[in-house]
Amino acid sequence: MLTLVAPDMTNGSGGQGGGMEETPWPAAVAPTLTGIDELDEVLPTCRACPRLVAWREEVARVKRAAFRDEEYWGRPVPGFGPRDAALAVVGLAPAAHGGNRTGRMFTGDRSGEVLYAAMYRAGLASRPDSVRPGDGLTLRSTRVTSPVHCAPPDNRPTPGERDTCRPWLAREFELLAPTLRAVLVLGGFGWQAVLPVLAAAGWRVPRPRPAFAHDAHVVLPSASEGGPLHLLGCYHVSQRNTSTGRLSPGMVEDRLRAAARVADIAE
Ligand code: SF4
Repeated sequence: MLTLVAPDMTNGSGGQGGGMEETPWPAAVAPTLTGIDELDEVLPTCRACPRLVAWREEVARVKRAAFRDEEYWGRPVPGFGPRDAALAVVGLAPAAHGGNRTGRMFTGDRSGEVLYAAMYRAGLASRPDSVRPGDGLTLRSTRVTSPVHCAPPDNRPTPGERDTCRPWLAREFELLAPTLRAVLVLGGFGWQAVLPVLAAAGWRVPRPRPAFAHDAHVVLPSASEGGPLHLLGCYHVSQRNTSTGRLSPGMVEDRLRAAARVADIAE
């Protein structure tokens, strides 16, 4: 039975009701979680970022007209995919009327349509679209996640919110580490956010830190006896990038195929 439930934040500290010096709830709880299933169960109870809690719940209450008959998720969105994934695809944060509505990463919005269609063509998804939980979509040895788990206003989390959320992704990568061989990061925000996460999860990140690029590919050695991790970049599948032609569906597919190859899961 679930016993780790987030406190209701009223003081804006990100802690558990005390002063600024208190450890934020995610930093206190995430390291204690012993499996991906437990992480996926506990994370949606997080209320550590007052601004994002208010926004995600306001969006879920007001809704977009096209979805007015739907019950929005309105909570943190956990990663999606098998607990023994060899490849992680890392975005930025759930979309207000996408993941924040459906409760699944990149599900129910234009960005997700581009991503999952490319994953399907690359042999990583069981179907070319992602509509809602229960639609039958499964991912092959791939987990889709993000450095910020709540929908932010204007798709822009603050640095403080990014840092408060970091322990969730760090724990996710620690738990995936025995099987994880590659990470494909969508966009510069995710790239910057994921480097300290990977360092915390057990891989050596070089100094100066590698720069984001669409075709970036860096191999991070393990800080212990584990295997190396391939870190690859890809422009984010945002509507801005896809509608302007900066990022085509074929470019996304190419990067997914490259990541699948180094993760040793290419078809
Ligand atoms: S963004 Fe992350 S840390 Fe902040 S409330 Fe959401 S899940 Fe919690």
